[in-house]
Amino acid sequence: MALFHKIAELAEQLAAEPGKLKKRTAIAAAIRRVHDHADNAAFVDAGRFALYLAGTPFAEADPRKLNAGGALLSKALLAVSGATQVALTAAYRRHGDIGAAAYDLLAAKNHPGSQLTLSEMAEAFAAMATAKTTAIRSALLEGLLERTSPLEAKYLLKLVAGDMRIGVKQSLVEEAIAEAASVPVAAVRNAVMLEADLAFAAERAFAGTLDAARMRLFHPLGFMLASPVDSPEEAAERFAEKPAGKKKKPASAPEGEAPAAQPAAARNISAYLEDKYDGMRAQVHCGDPTQPSRVAIYSRNREDVTESYPELEEAFAKVGDAVTGPLIFDGEILGWDFATGRALPFAVLGQRIGRKRVSNEWRRQVPVVFMAFDLMFANGTLLLDLPLSERRNRLEAVIEKLVEQVRSPIAIDEHAKQPQSFMFTEPEEESVERLLLSPSRLVESAEDIDRAYAEARARANEGVMLKAAGSQYLPGRRGLAWMKLKRELATLDVVVTGAEFGHGRRAGILSDYTFAVRDAAGELKNVGKAYSGLTDSEIASMSEWMMQHTLEDQGYFRTVEPLTILEVAFNNIMRSDRHASGFALRFPRIVRIRDDKPLDEIDTIARVEEIYQSQVDKPTDKPINQHTNPSRPKHKMQRPALHPSESAS
Ligand code: AMP
Repeated sequence: MALFHKIAELAEQLAAEPGKLKKRTAIAAAIRRVHDHADNAAFVDAGRFALYLAGTPFAEADPRKLNAGGALLSKALLAVSGATQVALTAAYRRHGDIGAAAYDLLAAKNHPGSQLTLSEMAEAFAAMATAKTTAIRSALLEGLLERTSPLEAKYLLKLVAGDMRIGVKQSLVEEAIAEAASVPVAAVRNAVMLEADLAFAAERAFAGTLDAARMRLFHPLGFMLASPVDSPEEAAERFAEKPAGKKKKPASAPEGEAPAAQPAAARNISAYLEDKYDGMRAQVHCGDPTQPSRVAIYSRNREDVTESYPELEEAFAKVGDAVTGPLIFDGEILGWDFATGRALPFAVLGQRIGRKRVSNEWRRQVPVVFMAFDLMFANGTLLLDLPLSERRNRLEAVIEKLVEQVRSPIAIDEHAKQPQSFMFTEPEEESVERLLLSPSRLVESAEDIDRAYAEARARANEGVMLKAAGSQYLPGRRGLAWMKLKRELATLDVVVTGAEFGHGRRAGILSDYTFAVRDAAGELKNVGKAYSGLTDSEIASMSEWMMQHTLEDQGYFRTVEPLTILEVAFNNIMRSDRHASGFALRFPRIVRIRDDKPLDEIDTIARVEEIYQSQVDKPTDKPINQHTNPSRPKHKMQRPALHPSESAS
């Protein structure tokens, strides 16, 4: 019978331990103890211990959710602690974390706690997941909290919130499981990847059945990511075949280092080149013969986003009719202009991202396609270990078979909507192909890459991707086998006009900066917000300075004297009424603090406009119908919640 206080005590110890190795040893020893001391539930308890310590109430393959947001957690905590809302807010402000706040509030009451077991928690979590009302969920959580000590409450709430903040990633728990059960880490990782169940992998590790793990569809695999290169020459150099016996040169040679003896152009380059699309990365699971019409689409941060793209779901549901068997595709969801055969700017697709209910209006205004560029699973086998050239061959063969089937109408008959009846509203609304194959070819030289880059930009794509022809698919890794070439737009020198308090590690620190450029009359006009790019010590001293130079204290936000100049980089500029300048920067990041620059030399709105105009596609964050379609939709369109994997400022 494993007890939750063991997890809480270990978590507290791990939070204070910076060494990864020591953390792993401590976790392994704890899992081992649970296994050794448990009764006939030894494997199950060890599995649950690992799962909860990793901050996950349910395994990834388990679709259940606790549905417990911040409001519910606060409500339950207030009820159990008897604290006032003011005391809770103050405790939350101190730590930026509801678990740590719970500790303070319950410690004040000297709450004793009792012997809460992991199986009791599992039962309560199961009941929360199926609870019909918030009141029932809250009562269940209160029931657990009533039985916890302050330390247990701290980690119970962190677990329910899905973030333990103890510097323990799942990969470290996988290593610890391997150590505890004396099995290879690779075998544990493989089982977790195939079955997406950390607890079950721990059970398998102790039971000696890791080899029996088989791929299950309908849980996301990790996405392979790309590293940036700054120039076509650097990219060509990176992928040039090295003369036998020579050591590999790093992707970017340190400044001043002599170039390679032979230019890359003169040697073979074994890399594929594709456009880099500016859409939403996604993985599509489909074609399971046991549930032929089931489709799942996962985003880069592993969320199931299927319901946001019903036209893709409808189209991929037809894969079940084809004779391909289960498939997992990697690719990009794009807003698509069927007339020109080109992607719509990201800002247009962005309006649909995060929408749960997609009306015909949206289906017509922002039609979507799935641009496939990799095949991860087919014929019952994971293809990740095959070289890209082979995966690409299979991808092409599969798409050739499917392309005619994977279709769905632009709009559907919303009244006659039944799960599998995709009827046309109007005869002219034909079904369209939703599965596209990303064009790809072997690249020859730096000049070739340069030309392709220009062509990609002319098609309004972001740049180009280069992928080593012989490379394996490495889920969740940003390696050097995939490189992205997208030149940054010019940077802007801006002045900080306000700042917001951060969260978590940055609680109580002014760390999210709002910044401005100058207009023609010399007035400061905000143009964006950024929080990344500075070191912790720079942030700390900025925060201290801003506390002393506050013009207006609005609680979570302060306007400050406009004296700090920053250089900011960004992906693009869009027209937006979010800021007074009429523009917003997408993916802004701070390059450096420009102590060397006086305020009167910061950039102007005219300069922002100039950069805006230099973009091939000129994004806007206004609802599409306001600028492309004069007829307003019947329902009120709100600005969409941006998907967590995307962001804009
Ligand atoms: P970044 O978001 O700048 O790190 O760039 C990586 C992203 O580029 C991926 O997550 C994909 O969403 C996107 N991407 C666009 N086109 C491609 C492509 N042809 N191959 C791989 N990734 C692509």
